Amino acid sequence: METKKLLEEADKYVMHTYGRFPVALRKGRGMRVWSTSGKEYLDFLGGIAVNVLGHCHPKVVVTIQKQAQRLIHVSNLYHIEPQVRLAKLLCTHSFADKVFFCNSGAEANEAAIKLVRKYASEQLGAGRSGIISTLNSFHGRTLGALTATGQEKFHKGFGPLVPGFTYVPFDDLDSMKAAVSPETCAIILEPVQAEGGVQVPSPEYLKGVRKICDDNGILLILDEVQTGMGRTGTLFAHEQFGIVPDVMTLAKGLGAGVPIGAMLATDKVAASFQPKTHASTFGGNPLVCAAAITTLEVILEDGFVLDHVNRISRYFMGRLEQLKNVFSDKVVAVRGMGLLIGVELVRDALPVVNACMERGILVGTAGSGNVLRLTPPLIVEEKDIDVLITTLEDVLEK
Ligand SMILES: *Cc1c(COP(=O)(O)O)cnc(C)c1O
Repeated sequence: METKKLLEEADKYVMHTYGRFPVALRKGRGMRVWSTSGKEYLDFLGGIAVNVLGHCHPKVVVTIQKQAQRLIHVSNLYHIEPQVRLAKLLCTHSFADKVFFCNSGAEANEAAIKLVRKYASEQLGAGRSGIISTLNSFHGRTLGALTATGQEKFHKGFGPLVPGFTYVPFDDLDSMKAAVSPETCAIILEPVQAEGGVQVPSPEYLKGVRKICDDNGILLILDEVQTGMGRTGTLFAHEQFGIVPDVMTLAKGLGAGVPIGAMLATDKVAASFQPKTHASTFGGNPLVCAAAITTLEVILEDGFVLDHVNRISRYFMGRLEQLKNVFSDKVVAVRGMGLLIGVELVRDALPVVNACMERGILVGTAGSGNVLRLTPPLIVEEKDIDVLITTLEDVLEK
């Protein structure tokens, strides 16, 4: 379809839930995507941390083709081999003993919220439904996940929300400690607040939160929907903070682009989900699980995450720091872990995003709009970063 007509029909037929750029993307390979009008872009947004292996990674493509020929979907009333294999792979490489599969980050967080409440009602006693979340967090758009999201701008107009949630400032252990009450059953956190502007907590924060949970007999849910799957330089971000959660949620990069979410837990907690307590029709179907197995296998290939992501991250952060020093009147801060990077600007980042787009580079925004969000595929190379930096120099100059 011709681009102009496509944009007209999008306006006419698709609900206006996104402030979309006037570009339609139709093809991708590795770090690159091409629009319907034939323009090439270097993709530093990566589907917002989804396309971890770049676009159309050959191994993922072949896996999807083969699995689509064999079996696309069956009900979860039957055993599904790729689902079992993926669950085993995830448990082998994490603290978890059991996995529940769903289709998105929000759904994974809904499952986590339901699981901790069920666990609390059975193991901790009546009235233990309280969940503490952090301000500026992001956990998704369904009502439970939306309520867990500590940002009023996302809540507006959707009340009444789910009862039982309280919010405390991120990276503030005293407030967290003070918020725990006899009703509290869990704390939900992103190890690094991503949507909230790429906020990396102090090194001791997660240990402190873990201790508060242990001291009070409450559960820790880590939302690694964006930070997981090698994004921060380890398979899961919490590994770098020296703690393990009781429950962890994944989605975004898990299937390198196919819609899949997962909620992982220890046996102790997972035991509260029994037949007829929670379910998903599509969750963990053969097609998406096969894609996720291949994704995980490629990420776990010797040294890929630890070596490449960490090496390239150091290079990337170094180049951005230089940029900040040159443009100290425009760049406030460079933050991040691995390839989850935020560049805080003195003003709205959208003009910079648009200018980069004109010059053939896709980047995003985060926080209150003044942070450039860089979440490229984990396969990004120095030469791609050099192109981005040169472009940013040109854009910031103007
Ligand atoms: C994107 C995101 C979600 C929501 O995921 P969806 O797949 O859009 O529902 C939840 N938590 C975090 C940390 C995210 O980054």
